[in-house]
Amino acid sequence: MSALPSHARVVIIGGGAVGASALYHLAKAGWTDCVLLEKNELTAGSTWHAAGNVPTFSSSWSIMNMQRYSASLYRELGALVDYPMNYHVTGSIRLGHSKERLQEFKRVVGMGRYQGMDLDILTPDEMRGKYPFLETHELTGALYDPYDGDIDPAQLTQALAKGARDMGAKIFRFCPATGARREGEEWVISTPQGEIRCEKVVNAAGYYAREVGKWFGRDVPMMVMSHQYILFEEIPELAAWSKEAGHKLPLLRDVDSSYYLRQEKTGMNLGPYERNCKAHWVTPDDPMPDDFSFQLFPDDLDRLEWYLNDAVERVPILGTAGLSRMINGPIPYAPDGNPLLGPMPGVPNAFEACVFTFGICQAGGAGKVLAEWVTEGETEWDMWSCDPRRYTSFAADKDYCVAKGMEIYGHEYAMHFPKHAWPAGRNQKLSPIHDRIAALGAQFKPYNGWERANWYAQDGDDTSEASTQTWNREGPWRPRIEAECRAVAEAAGILDLPGFSRFRVKGEGATAWLSSLITGRVPKPGRIGLAYFSDNKGRIVTEMSVMMLAEDFFFLITAATAQWHDFEWLQKHLPENPVFTLEDVTETFSCQILSGPNSRAILADVCKADLTMPWLTHQPVEIAGRWCQLVRVSFAGELGWEIHTKVEDTAVIFDAVWAAGQRHGLKPFGMEALDSLRIEKGYRAWKGDLSTDYTILQGGLERFVDWTKPAFKGKAALERERQQGVTKRFVLLTVEAGDCDAPYMSTLWHDGKVVGETTSGNWGYRTGKSIALGMLRADLAQAGTQIEVEIYGERFKATVEPDGPLFDPNNERLRA
Ligand SMILES: Cc1cc2nc3c(=O)[nH]c(=O)nc-3n(C[C@H](O)[C@H](O)[C@H](O)COP(=O)(O)OP(=O)(O)OC[C@H]3O[C@@H](n4cnc5c(N)ncnc54)[C@H](O)[C@@H]3O)c2cc1C
Repeated sequence: MSALPSHARVVIIGGGAVGASALYHLAKAGWTDCVLLEKNELTAGSTWHAAGNVPTFSSSWSIMNMQRYSASLYRELGALVDYPMNYHVTGSIRLGHSKERLQEFKRVVGMGRYQGMDLDILTPDEMRGKYPFLETHELTGALYDPYDGDIDPAQLTQALAKGARDMGAKIFRFCPATGARREGEEWVISTPQGEIRCEKVVNAAGYYAREVGKWFGRDVPMMVMSHQYILFEEIPELAAWSKEAGHKLPLLRDVDSSYYLRQEKTGMNLGPYERNCKAHWVTPDDPMPDDFSFQLFPDDLDRLEWYLNDAVERVPILGTAGLSRMINGPIPYAPDGNPLLGPMPGVPNAFEACVFTFGICQAGGAGKVLAEWVTEGETEWDMWSCDPRRYTSFAADKDYCVAKGMEIYGHEYAMHFPKHAWPAGRNQKLSPIHDRIAALGAQFKPYNGWERANWYAQDGDDTSEASTQTWNREGPWRPRIEAECRAVAEAAGILDLPGFSRFRVKGEGATAWLSSLITGRVPKPGRIGLAYFSDNKGRIVTEMSVMMLAEDFFFLITAATAQWHDFEWLQKHLPENPVFTLEDVTETFSCQILSGPNSRAILADVCKADLTMPWLTHQPVEIAGRWCQLVRVSFAGELGWEIHTKVEDTAVIFDAVWAAGQRHGLKPFGMEALDSLRIEKGYRAWKGDLSTDYTILQGGLERFVDWTKPAFKGKAALERERQQGVTKRFVLLTVEAGDCDAPYMSTLWHDGKVVGETTSGNWGYRTGKSIALGMLRADLAQAGTQIEVEIYGERFKATVEPDGPLFDPNNERLRA
């Protein structure tokens, strides 16, 4: 083996499928001066024992993108790099036991079609046609994915490694990274074979990622589960059928029973995600060993018994087979089950490509995404669902990670219903008035760990988890949300909003700096305004409110979940040696939204503010003897103020407003009502309507662009796009919907062709309409155009509404 070089542009720590793919894609991008360090042999972590299933299915757009890309790469990889490759595209049948499951499948068929994949729904008869050994009791239908298959994970890794080496990248096996330190602009990675310096470093250490992260001061939110599959001996009937058919059976996934069953040569492989699951290396009596290379946990058949019996009833020939071998290996989980792929939070020039739960089917796409992050600092697809910055520090808590990891694993195939809040790991961050609003009936959901009221139940309402197992609008919440919206529209509502992210910027040059980053104008002192941040391609990075206190002194306020992402964006774009300061003061402040026509009268009872000050202004006042900043904005689109307070004053101020409000019909309202109210105004939500999948101009945000500014980030790309014209455009649609409003990424149809997608949808109670926001082919984006929206497989008529709010188009209520 050649000697470890003293320097490389990028060092990747970990040689599983993901690390190898990252190296391959970096080399492919022309970054060949890259080194991969593997402590043992390639694949020694989770990769060697993986079953190697390669589905494309996902109800997440970005994960589907990654998996689709992987599948198409794997089809040609063997030939591309000249390496033998066992990749069987068998197709798969995903069984549905309920109406809701079929709705989910139909939605995925729509998303797949939009990504160029031809997925299909099967009836029980059609299932048996493809899978003759199948019993179809209790099934309502199935999803057929012709692209699904399985690959040999070791061959995949070796092929990627060979491809990378052939292009000039280097791999050092049996060369563990043992530490990392920062020297100047470089990372110095230590190994037993000496030190290697690099510009950028990638943590691809799989289930060891938490250990590696520590060297960078990063607490990786993750835990490790034990995951098993059972291999069966030859089943003569299957062998005979397969020989005659000339191919393998499609892979079967019984997602409601929670297992997959795959033909493995002439036998079978059964892999359950069991409810009675087991975490590993989480207690002091079960420490994580320094080295677990090529090792397995002891078999634990008892845990799988129920699943085995269920599978035998579904595919009786399995009952005739002898058990040949069990594999029980470690599999890492982040608290939401998605990988960590992107910039390492708070650490310069360091990246994560780790904690993959489906790292074989995602490796291809993950390598592409990682290489884009490293070489370009941005990715082709919006990858927020995998971005490590989606978690903040609370998520690294070990108990939290274990609780969430076990919950996700045990519900690996679960449907994620819009009104359902997963129960594990709750109450991480509570508002000071949590108990008060709980007593009012609040039904909570976490937002970046902060528990916020989603809606308010009344005595006798069904608030069980079971009631939320629906995609429908209708449910116990519906009359309550409607009443909350009505209170906001006709009297007043108050919403406690802890965890609003907030950054304080102060000092000479701060305003000029902000102006160079945002597309529009910086508001004048005393005013607040929305600001959009574009990347160099003109795409929407984020939206923040700028609360201007004085020249060169302002707060930037942004979504709770955007806290680390947005702060990093600001930090990354700081000038060299700035005179001004940028501070994350999220923990210091809180916010309550008071909205509705009576909000002025309520405030008049509790403070001496000048309540005639217009929309988009703010002022400091005292309520109950405590400082607060009254900000005249309303995401609900009514007369209203945000009351920004110190966290510790939340309760006193809430109590004063609440008491005064009782004379004016004040009611509490929750995030569900707020979402309904905002969509009627066409207000965009971050990482749905606003994402790097769209440019500022496509997003219909041109009124937030100040073309007269000499420069701002993204200006050149946006000017180019303005010249050429946008290809798609943001629209507000009213939909003649059925029982469900359009979820994110529902396809838009016109004249038998797919012409766009929704970015969010909800029912508007003030307008009495189902509303969707979305992106539509530019030539169709005119008011009055009739199109169709595909919602869970059914198409519904929709009308493009005039540009602007649907409710109160002239903003008279806001300005009242
Ligand atoms: C039983 C089982 C079945 C599975 N089946 C599937 C499946 O069908 N489809 C699917 O997509 N996924 C499957 N998975 C999950 C899959 O195995 C993992 O998601 C995937 O292997 C992760 O790849 P990785 O490269 O991220 O991590 P790993 O394969 O764990 O690679 C990390 C590497 O980093 C190395 N390393 C760690 N620390 C250091 C250090 N300090 N210095 C240098 N090197 C270091 C390790 O030795 C290891 O080789 C399965 C998992 C299990 C347990």
